[in-house]
Amino acid sequence: MKPCYPVLLVEDEPHIAEGLIFNLQAEGYQVTHVENGEAALEHLAAHNCALVVLDVMLPGMNGLHVCRRLREAENQVPILMLTARGEEEDRIAGLSEGADDYLTKPFSLKEFLLRVSGMLRRSNWQPRADSLPDTYLFGSNRIKLADSLASTPRGEFELTQLELRMLRIFFRKEGQILSRGELLESVWGMAPDTETRTLYNFIVRLRKYFEKDPSRPEHFLTVRGRGYKFIRKPSPTTRTD
Ligand code: CA
Repeated sequence: MKPCYPVLLVEDEPHIAEGLIFNLQAEGYQVTHVENGEAALEHLAAHNCALVVLDVMLPGMNGLHVCRRLREAENQVPILMLTARGEEEDRIAGLSEGADDYLTKPFSLKEFLLRVSGMLRRSNWQPRADSLPDTYLFGSNRIKLADSLASTPRGEFELTQLELRMLRIFFRKEGQILSRGELLESVWGMAPDTETRTLYNFIVRLRKYFEKDPSRPEHFLTVRGRGYKFIRKPSPTTRTD
């Protein structure tokens, strides 16, 4: 069976984006479109993409910068760079920043789709075995990951990007101990030895949202001296009351 490849398109020009989205979707790819580099990095920090189509000329952080940031973060997602005609420097810079291939605008859609399918074929991309469902349930809580929405006995509210990123990590690594360093690095992109109460305050906030009794957590547990652990279904013996 052909896997459904998630593709991220980073393109600020609406009419170009529209055409590419339409054609990628027609080929069966699952397309996410963002219009700037910051949004691209945010998306890629939380999602497993098979390919990034990255325009060089973007408002704010340009495509070359996005590419460098991804490679610095050890993200090896294949990148197809879109450069302007005649900008040979961009092509060279793109490849040296870690892009895998480039296309010069204007290009034909046929060529674009061939390039995309060739890159995906070579990449051997596999959906993550631990990919999360759209809706994740634990305790009396329902988290709609795709919509950043949480329903809890205390009400329904929207989660921030950081909260969502943190929850995804906990859900994916359910039952495993996550060190402070690991969480700081993967949620905030901070050095693992950063001295900060940010993480602690964050855990306190998650407990207030999702624990029946935030002072006696059952889901977001502290593992003394080691870090934190998320438990989806607490066993009855872990509580005495
Ligand atoms: Ca552009």
